[in-house]
Amino acid sequence: MRVAPQLAALQRIAAFSAAMRGHELGEWQTGEGFAQASCVRCGAQLRVYFPALEPEMDGPALERECSREAAEEEAA
Ligand SMILES: [Zn+2]
Repeated sequence: MRVAPQLAALQRIAAFSAAMRGHELGEWQTGEGFAQASCVRCGAQLRVYFPALEPEMDGPALERECSREAAEEEAA
């Protein structure tokens, strides 16, 4: 499968989207049809999928702000 260029673009978009919420993504792990990374500060995960026609991404890193305080509130 020649997905590398498409995946690299998706990962850049995902990293940018996560950064908008204050996250800093660590190393990407690539699986079959997806790649995932998590925030080095709060641990929120983000996953990108790369089917041929409809790439998408999801995960907590896109849904909430990066905040150690928020993480503690959730745990409390
Ligand atoms: Zn974070």
